[in-house]
Amino acid sequence: MTDTHRAYIGLGSNLDDPLAQVQGALAALARLPLTRCVAASPCYASRPVGPQDQPDFINAVAALDTRLSPLALLDQLQAVEQRHRRRRLRHWGPRTLDLDLLLYDDTCLATSRLTLPHPHMASRGFVLLPLANIAPTLRLPDGRRIADLAAHHAGDDLRVLLPQR
Ligand code: ATP
Ligand code: CA
Ligand code: CA
Repeated sequence: MTDTHRAYIGLGSNLDDPLAQVQGALAALARLPLTRCVAASPCYASRPVGPQDQPDFINAVAALDTRLSPLALLDQLQAVEQRHRRRRLRHWGPRTLDLDLLLYDDTCLATSRLTLPHPHMASRGFVLLPLANIAPTLRLPDGRRIADLAAHHAGDDLRVLLPQR
């Protein structure tokens, strides 16, 4: 493929069979147009922050090679979210699926719809640990190493559930 870009997607769910939500979303990412899924992290479980009477959060990160533009990729991610969120109508609570575009090459931008890199990724263990798992040498556009940032979260309450393939 020419004009291919590397994107990293953060997946999260804590409602309505979260593990199945995340695994279904990983399969959906692999089917996106002009896109190939090149790696998927294991699924990680973490206890929710705040009220404990809700399911664990399940998080994972996927690496995509894509010819979609950043905004076209965001459109696709939001379409997948919408399909997974339909079941929210029967519940009152957190979303069933959250797909964040973490990185797109070394692109930095801040528009009303899209900020890159994802603004909170550098401080979230549930993003950094799965990301470091599949991309140990990756750096943020500002040069910081993902593995170094992840090391600060080694003590976070994250459990690896299922390795992907
Ligand atoms: P957080 O951004 O703290 O993870 P969230 O994922 O709960 O919060 P959402 O409600 O899913 O937030 O998204 C709000 C808006 O964020 C979306 O409509 C989207 O346009 C915008 N957005 C900006 N940058 C990004 C990005 N890098 N990835 C995904 N959405 C983004
Ligand atoms: Ca998010
Ligand atoms: Ca989001």
